[in-house]
Amino acid sequence: MPETSTSEQTTTTSPGENAGRPEWAAAQRIVVKIGSALLVDRATGILKKDWLASLMQDVAVLARMGKQIVLVSSGAIALGRHTLKLPAGPLDLEESQAAAAVGQISLAHAYQEFARGHGLIAAQVLVTLGDTEERRRYLNARHTIDRLLVMRALPVVNENDTVATTEIRYGDNDRLSARVASMISADCLVLLSDIDGLYTAPPNAGVDACRLDVVTEITPEIEAMAGDAGTELSKGGMKTKIEAAKIARAAGCNMVIASGKLEHPLAAVGQGCAATWFLAPSDPVTAKKRWISGQLEPKGVVIVDEGAVVALSSGKSLLPAGVKAITGTFDRGDVVVIRTQAGLDVGRGLIAYASADAQRIIGKKSRDAAEILGFEGRPELIHRDDMALNRAHGVA
Ligand code: GLU
Repeated sequence: MPETSTSEQTTTTSPGENAGRPEWAAAQRIVVKIGSALLVDRATGILKKDWLASLMQDVAVLARMGKQIVLVSSGAIALGRHTLKLPAGPLDLEESQAAAAVGQISLAHAYQEFARGHGLIAAQVLVTLGDTEERRRYLNARHTIDRLLVMRALPVVNENDTVATTEIRYGDNDRLSARVASMISADCLVLLSDIDGLYTAPPNAGVDACRLDVVTEITPEIEAMAGDAGTELSKGGMKTKIEAAKIARAAGCNMVIASGKLEHPLAAVGQGCAATWFLAPSDPVTAKKRWISGQLEPKGVVIVDEGAVVALSSGKSLLPAGVKAITGTFDRGDVVVIRTQAGLDVGRGLIAYASADAQRIIGKKSRDAAEILGFEGRPELIHRDDMALNRAHGVA
């Protein structure tokens, strides 16, 4: 059952008066989704610079605390339609794509400028649905964002609206941001929107509704609380936010819906402002392991030596050196079974090399792999983050 405590204890407070949730304090890697309605003035179609400046100030504070921040920002269509002087009202797909192509430039520029003001380097990352669903591209996108974070850059993600088609697109940045959060193993996803959380009834339902502080499970009752409404500028309503919560929770990531209507929205989250937190299951690793071990069809088997089993059980990645043999035909990013020479299944994982390449580097040192293959691949055959080990064998 979801926890249905209401908002009494968590109304907006002054800094420091009311500490935020421990999940926020503990979060190291945070994805923040910014809705169009917050960033772009609906009447004029102009960027809300003061608001963006306050957001970037918050981001800079978090970055100084050593936290890694990824922004997923909408606003391309809203800005572009203004520049193109398109009439008010719904746009068809081609019109929104054209508007996005125009608006994305302004959007990226704005982030670059405001990030620079705090000594931060903004990086534009445009992704399509296929990039997060297809495992090879998923791994690539993940490694790029990881690398940007290591370089202390600030990735600013949006959907690549110009190439998305009706069938193959997110269309809303709620779910996209959840996919990104799950892709990069973020601890926390913040959905900044024009509403401060999930209410027991949709705002337009005409009944008294109260905001939930915490949701610990997405039950049919919780789903029923989400209305469908979105504004003209943003595609997401509460429904897509609940979908996002499912994606985030399955990846072990906490999610919070908070209002971005006031300035300094992230500082407000840190101070425990009114919001709805969707808490991930307490053992987040288990959720990801379930995803890898339960939902995918293994394409091959890697037979590992005893040394590798010991390394895996202490939380290390699987290196080519520890692999004795490989069977099956697979691509980079496919799921394979990890098996001992005695025939015991140790777990499963997403492999970083296609079978033909993997065959050539097994038993070899990672540093020799590039020379053997003629291209620079990952040092590990299966990264520990991409691995679900069987607890039954004491290696979880
Ligand atoms: N990608 C769209 C844009 O930048 C926004 C989608 C959404 O509103 O969630 O305008």
